[in-house]
Amino acid sequence: MTAYQVSRLRELVAHAGATVPYYRRLFDRAGASPHEIRTLEDLALIPITEKDALRCLPDAEVISSRFDPKRLIRRRTSGSSGTPLVVRRAWTEQSLLHLFRLRAWRSIGLRARDRRVSVGVVRENDSRDSKAMGRALGAAGLHRHTRVDVFLPPRELLPQLEELRPDVLHGYPGALARVADLRRERESTSLSPRFLMTGAEVLTPQLRRRIEEGFGVPVYDFYGTHELNLVAWECVHTGAIHTCDDALIFEVIVDGRPAAEGERGEVVVTGLYSYAMPFIRYKLGDLVVRGRAACRCGAPFSTILAIEGRTFEYFPLPDGRSIHAHEIGLRLAAAAGGRIRQYQLVQERTDRILLRVVPEPSAPPAPAELHTVVRELIGEAAELEVELVDAILPDSSGKSPPYRSLLNQREPGD
Ligand SMILES: [Zn+2]
Repeated sequence: MTAYQVSRLRELVAHAGATVPYYRRLFDRAGASPHEIRTLEDLALIPITEKDALRCLPDAEVISSRFDPKRLIRRRTSGSSGTPLVVRRAWTEQSLLHLFRLRAWRSIGLRARDRRVSVGVVRENDSRDSKAMGRALGAAGLHRHTRVDVFLPPRELLPQLEELRPDVLHGYPGALARVADLRRERESTSLSPRFLMTGAEVLTPQLRRRIEEGFGVPVYDFYGTHELNLVAWECVHTGAIHTCDDALIFEVIVDGRPAAEGERGEVVVTGLYSYAMPFIRYKLGDLVVRGRAACRCGAPFSTILAIEGRTFEYFPLPDGRSIHAHEIGLRLAAAAGGRIRQYQLVQERTDRILLRVVPEPSAPPAPAELHTVVRELIGEAAELEVELVDAILPDSSGKSPPYRSLLNQREPGD
């Protein structure tokens, strides 16, 4: 795998240095010449690129001169950490990246004849993206896919899904958990997928339990981004998360160095098949815990132990400290996990945090107890309110993320 990554990387870096002005300048400034990249360690010679650096540049700076920008497929990121970034891809790149996703789906049990239904945002397709491959497969009765609107209330979603009878159900964890609750309540048997797949927001242990209990089948989590499509997916054998090492180089960086196994760090990726708009040492803004260098199942992929959230979910506190919301989430799970169905931590102001909790009806936790747990972590400097609620409703993006910061008007989860 390493030899393969290095050969792809050398080709990519030479291409970017020769045809993408942004990278040519970046390499020049760092004194890194593309032909010096001979091993994966040499990648460290190239500075890390932040999303903001690409966002404010004109097309000609970030798109390879070998591609005609007018013919590229455009996809806008949801702008979770500010204004969106427009990602451009050639049709061949788009299709190839989809095949990596298809391989991951198959590894967890998706069959060619399955009907997959996703609960998501129904959006208009870019006319340059003909979806020819998907349409041809669909016409042959293979890899059929239907999308259902995530904004429908569960009582309308459930009958639609029952009618579609998906073999595999796919969607945001928050949305699927609400459907799971209603399915269990109504004892619906006509909606019985073999398994579920989640993505796009953190699948907390509470949400996983609700979905698995509501459907009586397993759920598998996927980690993808608009920039690079599939980044990682859950191993069906070990529960670790495989990184898609033959499509990208996945680094976990902490204080400028690679994270050790078991250590939390920021994700930096290099897309080995993105030539129209290259992403080389690109910081995704996600926090993960690095796992073993090779999965125990024998697959040739390195692993992540946990996807913990986004870097903008760090809550800065008035006393100068900052704490990642996931840290609070872990503490809540340890203290009262079995009595919490879902939670959402919202930093409304630097000095005010709101914790919304959907309690387990059979054994609800006392707000005072949750208050004490969170207070131990955040100290006395910020106001804290704990609210027991019936449901956590999706926001304008259709998601109901466990962590939100209202500082800097940032939007939740990509
Ligand atoms: Zn594995």
